[in-house]
Amino acid sequence: MEPVPSPVRVRFAPSPTGFLHVGSGHSALANWLFARHSGGEFLLRIEDTDAERDRPELIENVLEMLQWLGLQWDNDPPRQSQRRALYEDAAAKLLADGAVYPCDCTGEQVQARNKESGGKPGYDGFCRDRGLEPGPGRALRFRTPREGRTGWTDLVRGEVSFANSDIEDFVVVRGNGAPMFLLANCYDDADMGITHVIRGEDHVNSTPKYLLLGAALGLAAPEAFAHMPLLVNEGRKKLSKRRDDVSMADYRDRGYLPEAMVNYLALLGWGPADGVEVRPITEIVEQYRLEDVNAAPAFFDQKKLSFVNAEKIRALSTEEFIERATPFLTRGEPAVAALRSLAVEVQERVRTLVEVEPMIEFLVVDQPEVDEASWTKAIVKGKAVPEMVAATIARLEALGAEEWTPAPIEAAVRQAAVDAGIVNAEGEPQLSKAQGPVRVAISGRSVGPPLWESLAVLGRERTIDRLRTMQGQLP
Ligand code: GLU
Repeated sequence: MEPVPSPVRVRFAPSPTGFLHVGSGHSALANWLFARHSGGEFLLRIEDTDAERDRPELIENVLEMLQWLGLQWDNDPPRQSQRRALYEDAAAKLLADGAVYPCDCTGEQVQARNKESGGKPGYDGFCRDRGLEPGPGRALRFRTPREGRTGWTDLVRGEVSFANSDIEDFVVVRGNGAPMFLLANCYDDADMGITHVIRGEDHVNSTPKYLLLGAALGLAAPEAFAHMPLLVNEGRKKLSKRRDDVSMADYRDRGYLPEAMVNYLALLGWGPADGVEVRPITEIVEQYRLEDVNAAPAFFDQKKLSFVNAEKIRALSTEEFIERATPFLTRGEPAVAALRSLAVEVQERVRTLVEVEPMIEFLVVDQPEVDEASWTKAIVKGKAVPEMVAATIARLEALGAEEWTPAPIEAAVRQAAVDAGIVNAEGEPQLSKAQGPVRVAISGRSVGPPLWESLAVLGRERTIDRLRTMQGQLP
């Protein structure tokens, strides 16, 4: 009989030392995709073992952002800070078995000895055979085998192994009695029945320690690991919280859609076989395989993220677009009404939801503020600007109230361009040039939704009013 494969169980195990950032989001997503693809479970565990560095209030941020991304977990997440007794018991067992030994060396002592002997950095095994009794101020170090290799199957990296002689006798319990992250991490994976450990590449070097520790505790090792590629910036440097935009919450607040973020993150180090990159998450779940993830560092490209975001915005229904954009409108109900009147046009043009309000603001304010750069571009550097403004006023005033719709407005402005002599060799109006001053007059900006629709919505009186105001301000 074929053995029944054990169901897949993976976990995302954040430490609350920082906000959820795009790198940790990438690891969380890989776990979630793998679980959903294989019909397994996606568990969450809070690794808050570092009392000095942890900021418990950040757990909220992590949970909230996972939820925002749609990466729903399947358990009530355990917190390692509440499981300390279990790790202490495990440490006691290791001590009784001689797998760990007490050590009273300070960091300075170790460094001084290494310097003197010219040996390699890291712990030199000084206390390994001293037979110290455990006690306050004495750490417990793992007695790493001097020979052999420790390795694993990595779904992303293939077979990976380290010479045991290169692994120092690492600390398992601190001198103050606090169990180290590594012990809690490996203990809990076994305790939770984790089958695949999927995490960032920064954990590759500690994986042999994890395996040695697990074996010493008699724990079953996971079936496989997958160490996801490092995310880097355009300088090929590891993303940094200080230098780069990495906070997931910031992306949400800057108007990125969760489905765009998830789609884009999935593409970092991975691509679907059919090459279709922007697609619904259900299709990504179907196609995602860790074996297809590339181990090379992946460039977190904000331009590509914006592109994916724009695509996802355009894929929304108009109603949904309005609904998603509404929380980003600071000007309340009038802004929502303005957006309703130009939603289709705006939806075509924005890359993020924060770009929505500036596009419709001209409909809400009494007189738009003129943007410096737009003024320079369309007015200072414009062609026959006073003539164009005057001709536009005249042509638009000649339109009857019932003609105040996009097509007649367009015809009138084209005519005005001809009147002002803004034409090409064939006598055709040069619209790209002619439109500039009109757009700046009505919206204060040189970019925005299509002009004819904008004027139609703004109304005859307000449009002509604004053109007259500009006429009075021309240089
Ligand atoms: N708590 C670790 C971290 O936040 C994750 C460890 C793991 O996934 O095994 O980096």
